[in-house]
Amino acid sequence: MNKYDMVIVGSGPAGLTAAIYSGRQNFKTLVLEKALVGGTGLMVPLMENYPGFDMISGRKLIELMKTQTMRHAEIKELEEVKKVEYNEELLKISTSKGNYMSKSVILATGSKHRFLNVPGEAEFLGRGVSYCATCDGPLFVGRRVLVVGGGNSAAQQAIYLDSIGVLVAMVHRRSELRAEIYLQRLLEDKDIPIIWNSELKKIKGDQLVQSAVLCNNKTGKEEEVVTDGVFVAVGEIPSNQLAYDMGIEIDERGGYIITDKGQRTNLPRVYAAGDVTIGNNQWLIACSEGAVAALSAYQDIQIRKK
Ligand code: NAP
Repeated sequence: MNKYDMVIVGSGPAGLTAAIYSGRQNFKTLVLEKALVGGTGLMVPLMENYPGFDMISGRKLIELMKTQTMRHAEIKELEEVKKVEYNEELLKISTSKGNYMSKSVILATGSKHRFLNVPGEAEFLGRGVSYCATCDGPLFVGRRVLVVGGGNSAAQQAIYLDSIGVLVAMVHRRSELRAEIYLQRLLEDKDIPIIWNSELKKIKGDQLVQSAVLCNNKTGKEEEVVTDGVFVAVGEIPSNQLAYDMGIEIDERGGYIITDKGQRTNLPRVYAAGDVTIGNNQWLIACSEGAVAALSAYQDIQIRKK
């Protein structure tokens, strides 16, 4: 069975940074990714708050990070981790393709999209309903879409869609956005309409999306709006199943992994970093947490050797 010093589960910004730091401590390091490197990071249309880059897409930054990581660690894509358990002094990692042993593990499993859970959402997925403006936006150039949500993701998606020539309006359930002020100003500058105090109740269509039913939660009035697409950006849910199965301490309210300042979980030599942990879901913070987790693992293993 292959033996590593460090196995990292997940290859978003946190996982890749952890791998760079771990590899540079001469740890034999493996990154396991159930899909393709990057995770939800690939869906970020444009970032303007990652130091060193005025503007960079999530896809481009992941590409750069992946190339850098490969100099320090091994990456396996399309390999899902099913179980992590202690096996005497080591951790045994069982995946969809095999088993590995490791001295330490970092969980950087990220988050997944929250669904609206309204009629038509699942039915029209890929036929007008999308969670990723960068992936599907170009299909809607010159056509009308609604972006549901009031956070940074919704604002970013609306701004990106507008920039490529999609006729976009936002739908938000309150009368103020949660998105950062910088993005709110961009929405204003670009005259992107926002339908306030409104909840999307139903997505309708035939083969493709044709309309959406909105309800004004102040007046109770329902309205059917013609649209070709609905982009849902109503938040993220931490991907915590593995942590939960391992008995890792999880915050009951949000489902995030609880760590100390060194990104240590309650289990020895198991660390967590990025969007699966409590804190701000920001690219830069995920990277920092990944670096801290790898350095903590190195310190903890050095101490055990003494
Ligand atoms: P978020 O900040 O949690 O915002 C989710 C939005 O969806 C909120 O406006 C919320 O409304 C709304 N919402 C939630 N459930 C809803 C429902 N059932 N129906 C209608 N609306 C609903 O999520 P996010 O925008 O996906 O961002 C996730 C995290 O990533 C955040 O921490 C965010 O700061 C971070 N992020 C940062 C950047 C950046 O730094 N530029 C970019 C993207 C994401 P209420 O406001 O009424 O709660």
